[in-house]
Amino acid sequence: MKPRILVTNDDGVHSPGLRAAVEALYADFDVLVVAPERQQSAVGHSITLHKPLRMEPVSVGGLPVRAFQTNGTPADCVVLASLVDPPAPQLVVSGINVGANLGEEIFYSGTVSAAMEAAIQGLPAFAVSVAGTEQVFFEPAAAYVARLARLLLEVSLPSGSFLNVNVPNLPAGELREARLTRLGRRCYANQLEKRTDPRGRDYYWFSGEPCEADSTPDTDIGAVHAGFISITPIHIDITDYALLERLSAEAHRFSFGEAQVAGDAGK
Ligand code: MN
Repeated sequence: MKPRILVTNDDGVHSPGLRAAVEALYADFDVLVVAPERQQSAVGHSITLHKPLRMEPVSVGGLPVRAFQTNGTPADCVVLASLVDPPAPQLVVSGINVGANLGEEIFYSGTVSAAMEAAIQGLPAFAVSVAGTEQVFFEPAAAYVARLARLLLEVSLPSGSFLNVNVPNLPAGELREARLTRLGRRCYANQLEKRTDPRGRDYYWFSGEPCEADSTPDTDIGAVHAGFISITPIHIDITDYALLERLSAEAHRFSFGEAQVAGDAGK
């Protein structure tokens, strides 16, 4: 039997990036697609609590895979897939996203959040994005998706961890090998633009170009800039252990108050 793999994304089930991933995977894997019915980029890790979730069968470019579109978020899709189609998949792939997810962008990304939800559910996963939004080269990224999927059946990821993969938007011949990286830092200049609507009221629109605050060659940003595929291991535990240790040395300063504690103890 072929290994079971769930493919989801945040660009919507009709995105050419999702289709490219499925096309690269279906020969070797039993592929299930559960993906949002429309664009959900930058929804982060939100889940749907206040409306019914629906699933409808859908065709992914006529490929021979079971596929469903949902009105839910990327994180919803991962949970839905395990519920409606047990047993759980052996691997979850989120993407291929149109546009990079580098540095702190992972906190806004629906693509990355789907992989993170898989990690929360105890499933091995990776998110994959191409660092381009126009004239996107999906094929080299899709070939790498198939290769990484096969590898992750052999190299198991620890519980709570997943990989965030970013592929430079280059044709196959120009793409460099894969590099293991840490998260860099991006910043955005002039992030919000203020404009005035036809009725004279102000409104604001996210815009601005990313600038790089930390993009040394060992970061995801640095690797992608240099033409390398970037693979960043991510863990769902974002505790700052160095700060925890430093603050623990003066834990008494964070105490609720000795009088209060003594009072509670006497009750
Ligand atoms: Mn997206």
